[in-house]
Amino acid sequence: MRGADDSIAKEALFRELGYAGPWEPLEQALAEAGLTSPRKQRISRQKIERVRETLRARFALVCGRGDCQAGAAEILAGRRPALALRQADCEVCGGSVNRHAVDQMVAACQRAGFRRFCVVGGSPEAHRQLEELAAGRLELRLVGNERRHTHRDAEANLRWADRVIIWGSTQIAHKVTELYAAGNPKVVTVHKRGVAELARAVISACKPGDAPGGGISGPAT
Ligand SMILES: [Zn+2]
Repeated sequence: MRGADDSIAKEALFRELGYAGPWEPLEQALAEAGLTSPRKQRISRQKIERVRETLRARFALVCGRGDCQAGAAEILAGRRPALALRQADCEVCGGSVNRHAVDQMVAACQRAGFRRFCVVGGSPEAHRQLEELAAGRLELRLVGNERRHTHRDAEANLRWADRVIIWGSTQIAHKVTELYAAGNPKVVTVHKRGVAELARAVISACKPGDAPGGGISGPAT
């Protein structure tokens, strides 16, 4: 039997996917797609990808900025606009900010000779964005809470990766991140959420002056 971890509150999922509400239109879309009933508070995590696709097909995420609201018509493609929770989730401005930051990150990594990254932490949605934006240019291992992660897994990732990014302040369990907090010079800690913020932190960790031990933030304990 799988435990309570196998489901997520629907409102939490909507927020994770970048929606600021109201939830009724989202609920209705999911009900029409046969994924859930509006009466249910929670939904199986195994449905997350189908929920994401269903909502993306029907709603365009647009943040509250005037420019984005005004420019939304261009990206709707038959969809209805939905208010984005964060600017990074906005399909008008957020996507381009993230894309630009990841492009710069890839360039910095190529100059530094880094290709393999293990990212520990971050939401499934952030992982998806990162994979999509870095596709074919960086090798990524993404570690979330969804799988059991052991000391052995962490050691293998530390050997494999050029840099291990601990994405703190996200939903990763402390017992997972502490597997990487052994003062290893490969480990970089990022304290801010958001794909663009992660990219900027990786760029500063790739600077030639930042040899191991330099600008890299190791464990504080
Ligand atoms: Zn925007």
